[in-house]
Amino acid sequence: MSSAKLDMEKLVALCRRRGFIFQSSEIYGGINGFWDYGPMGVELKKNIKDVWWNDMVRNPPPGPDGQEITMVGVDCSLIMNPRVWEASGHVGGFSDPMIDCKTEGCKGRFRADQLKSTPCPLKPSKCAGEFEKCQLTEPRVFNLMFKTYVGALEDASAVAYLRPETAQGIFANFKNVSDSSRVKLPFGIAQIGKAFRNEINPRNYTFRSREFEQMEIEFFCHPDESMKWYQYWRDVRKNWYSTLGLNSDRVLPREQGKEELAHYSIGTTDIEYMFPFSDEPQELEGVAHRGAYDLTQHMTHSGKDLAYFDELAWQKADKSVYGGDKKKEQAAKQSPPYKFVPHVIEPSAGADRFTLAVLCEAYHEDKVADASGKQEERVVMRFHPRLAPVKAAIFPLVNKDGMPEIAERLYRELKRDFNVQYDDGGAIGRRYRRQDEIGTPYCITIDGDTVCGGSVTIRDRDTLEQRRVQLSDVVGEIRKMVK
Ligand code: ATP
Repeated sequence: MSSAKLDMEKLVALCRRRGFIFQSSEIYGGINGFWDYGPMGVELKKNIKDVWWNDMVRNPPPGPDGQEITMVGVDCSLIMNPRVWEASGHVGGFSDPMIDCKTEGCKGRFRADQLKSTPCPLKPSKCAGEFEKCQLTEPRVFNLMFKTYVGALEDASAVAYLRPETAQGIFANFKNVSDSSRVKLPFGIAQIGKAFRNEINPRNYTFRSREFEQMEIEFFCHPDESMKWYQYWRDVRKNWYSTLGLNSDRVLPREQGKEELAHYSIGTTDIEYMFPFSDEPQELEGVAHRGAYDLTQHMTHSGKDLAYFDELAWQKADKSVYGGDKKKEQAAKQSPPYKFVPHVIEPSAGADRFTLAVLCEAYHEDKVADASGKQEERVVMRFHPRLAPVKAAIFPLVNKDGMPEIAERLYRELKRDFNVQYDDGGAIGRRYRRQDEIGTPYCITIDGDTVCGGSVTIRDRDTLEQRRVQLSDVVGEIRKMVK
């Protein structure tokens, strides 16, 4: 995003024109709060999820004492036993206070805590409650979970919910994972997947949707070490956004005040981003210290023992203090410091919110010289090469003289490893403009020198620099540059 505030309408238009994001069921007039990703959008979001998985699950940065971090993944069902949501507190408490406006022509529905910032449907648009004729109801509690029925009977016993977060699948599988993968504390379990919330006011493009994807980690640790891990994850997660091209001045961690904290939370930091549609930074991710709350809740509601037995500590323990009394030994094994409920640090990020931030940050308008040297306006998406939906485009300069054959061969070679495009349509300048709009970092042109001398030009999207590289080095060069 250039320093001037981005006009969201321009971004939305580009996203539609170039196949990043469409309104869901657009041909039927859409459905509020639901979005589809097109061919470019799906690549961008997939790259975001892959990079998150690579950087957080496969290769997380070393821990606070330089130690290697243990991380594993899961992929849980969207619909779980409804008792999960009783234990987690979502059935009783996952709600927003909602206010209706009874005024004819408005009939708006607003979140009570966002009244002052939600536009009213009446024209000229003001915020809810600002017209004299506004007739606002008292706030009512509205549960955000989508309800459905499992099986053929639509009665109370068949009610189930679409998960409103991915986290509970991780907690419910804590014992399965620790028993099956031999992981030792501290360790993290990660999951990427869809979540559903019947948001009262879906708005700001994809920012607040009713169906979205989360990238969540539950990091389990010893209670005595939990503050250290909370700080670690806060820093790791904040820094990650800057390594992928978000301007660090716009990524703002905000420690929640005591009055804001969920009752079980020992500390929560929201990592916020200055989106162009708001004067206030908005949440990209929450990093929460959840203490032993979730596992304890699931232990109580399921009756299953989810406490962690520290085998290493037990091996090192001086057992002579039990004087060979097996009962005392058993009792000790069931109690702290050998058995305890781990504390949890939860970095919970939204894949769609980060995708939106990446799109906002990438959007630039500038001027470049066309073939005749005349300045020409262009829209260019400056995606970080790791995130760019298309890594390189291959152009034969003309469709003859052996150029298409070389270009097609190179295209086929590159596409084994990268998402690349082949474009032989129109003047080179127009082909560049098309790639600029989808943020392709490198354009490779096959010209007369390729046919005679075996070298191609690689043009850099941002610097516009063109350099010649031997055909045989192209794959290696692209690999180096998109890493
Ligand atoms: P908000 O206050 O914006 O409603 P939240 O605090 O309820 O968000 P969490 O429950 O902490 O959000 O969810 C973790 C992450 O999931 C958020 O930081 C965000 O990136 C993403 N997320 C939550 N709700 C939505 C939504 N309606 N649309 C898109 N992403 C969402």
